[in-house]
Amino acid sequence: MTRSIRGRCAKRPSDDERPPLIVSPRSDLGPPPRLGYIASRIDRVASLRGDDAALKRLSADVRAGAYVIGGELIVLKASSPACDPLFAPAEARALGRVHEIVFLGLMDEAPRFGFRLDAQAIELLKARDDLKITDLRSIAVQGLVEPEHLPPLAEAKALLAWHARHSHCPNCGARTDVVQAGWRRDCPACGAEHFPRTDPVVIMLAIAGERCVLGRSPRFAPTMWSCLAGFAEPGESIEEAVRREVLEEVGIACGRIKYFASQPWPFPSSIMIGCHAEALSDSIVVDRDELEDARWFDRDELVAMLKRQHPAGLTTPPPVAIAHHIIRSFVEDGCNVLN
Ligand SMILES: [Zn+2]
Repeated sequence: MTRSIRGRCAKRPSDDERPPLIVSPRSDLGPPPRLGYIASRIDRVASLRGDDAALKRLSADVRAGAYVIGGELIVLKASSPACDPLFAPAEARALGRVHEIVFLGLMDEAPRFGFRLDAQAIELLKARDDLKITDLRSIAVQGLVEPEHLPPLAEAKALLAWHARHSHCPNCGARTDVVQAGWRRDCPACGAEHFPRTDPVVIMLAIAGERCVLGRSPRFAPTMWSCLAGFAEPGESIEEAVRREVLEEVGIACGRIKYFASQPWPFPSSIMIGCHAEALSDSIVVDRDELEDARWFDRDELVAMLKRQHPAGLTTPPPVAIAHHIIRSFVEDGCNVLN
C-alpha cells in the first residue's frame, strides 16, 4: 500500500521567487524498526550513589545483576533463543579480576551493576562453552539479548570505558579514586573531581528536493552507505557543527538544520545527534582523508536500499543505528523533514 502525502516544502523567506517543491508519494516501509540503546528502563537513582549503606544493601540484594565488560567485549551466558547478559555479583567476580564496579541503577527495582574485567581475562573466557563473548555492536545487530538489556549495556560500556582510560588525574597526574558508585573520580593529591564524559557527534543527511547525500567510510562493509557524521567541536553549536562537517566532507554548503533524534553510541562514549540539513549547492567534492566516496541518492534508490532490494546490493546501516532512521524519515516524508 502506498500512502500519498502530497505535501509541499515550506519556502524559506529568501526564496520567494522559487516555486515550492512537490514531495513525491510516501513509500510504505512497514512498521518502524527499533532504534538501539534508547528507551532505557533503568532508574538511575543518582541520589543513592553517595549512600554507602544503600549501595551495600543493593549489592547484597538477591535480585542484583551485573553486566560484565572488558574492553570492547561483553560476556553473555550462552542460551537460546536469547543470551542472558546478567550475572549475580558473585558469579561476575568469579569470571576474573575486577577493575571497577559501577552502579547503573534499578530496573524494576532490581539493582543493576557494571563490572569491568581485565581484557585478558575476557579473552580466556572465550574457551568456555557456557559463555558467549562478543562485542556490543554484534549483540545489538544480531539481537543476541532481549532489547531491554541494550540501554544498560550501553550505559555500562560507556562508563567503564571512561574508567579504563581515566585512571589518573589530568590535572596533576596522581592516581584517582572511584567515588559516587562509579560516577566520579576524585584526585587525592589536588582535590580535582572528574566526571564521565560524553562526546557529542553530529550525524546528518544533507537533502535537496528528492535527493540526499550519502557517504562511505573505508571501514564500512563494502556495500554500505550512510549519513555523514563528525564530532562537534568546542565552542560550536549543533547547527554549526552540521554545516562545517558537511562542507568539510563533501564540499556542500547547508542552510536550514532540523534536529531529528539522538542516540547513545557507546563506542566508546558518544551521543549521536541526528539532523536533516538543507543542501544549498549541488557539486560534491569528497574529502578523501575522511571518506572513500560520496554521492547523491534519490528517494527511490533509498527505498531499494532500506528494503535490501537494491540491484547492486547497496544498503543503509542497520535499524539499530540512528542513520537508518534519519534516512528512512527522508524516504517517508521527503524534504518535509526540514519543516
Ligand atoms: Zn590531581
